[in-house]
Amino acid sequence: MMLTLAIDMDETMADTTRQINKWYEREFGHTLTEEQLHGKEFRQAVPPGHSGVVHKYLNTPGFFRDIEVYPDAIEVVRELNKKYQIFVVSAATEFPNSLKDKIEWLDELFPYLNWKQYCLCGDKSLVQTDLMIDDRSRNFIHLKGSKTYLYSAHHNVAETAYERVNDWKEVAQKLL
Ligand SMILES: [Mg+2]
Repeated sequence: MMLTLAIDMDETMADTTRQINKWYEREFGHTLTEEQLHGKEFRQAVPPGHSGVVHKYLNTPGFFRDIEVYPDAIEVVRELNKKYQIFVVSAATEFPNSLKDKIEWLDELFPYLNWKQYCLCGDKSLVQTDLMIDDRSRNFIHLKGSKTYLYSAHHNVAETAYERVNDWKEVAQKLL
């Protein structure tokens, strides 16, 4: 029996912050720097009057369709898929317009996965895989004995309670 492995999409497979920054630049003429984002959510790092723009972007059709994938993710997930029973788990229903974009994105970039491996859901607390990779530690809280890997992101730099992976090469080192 293969171990089951849940992999998050946003800020784990997909560089969602880069995409938000691109859309922010298109609207406001500048990006936020890594220093400005350090330790914060994007919406906390923008001027108070702009705090609603992230939610607006995330629910705009097309936003999730052409997000850049993180380096090495395609190759490493391909190898992981031979060794683990993988599920891509994304809390996507908060943004109804993301659903089709996310499926098309996965179909295009991860063609070796099939639709049964896509779990686009609301609350991840039903998920009880043997391993989980996610940038949000809140998704680890309900797990009963799973091995967890916190995918490093600007918003989680201060967290110390979980083993980290900083990029997909590190995922490969730990899991392959
Ligand atoms: Mg995420």
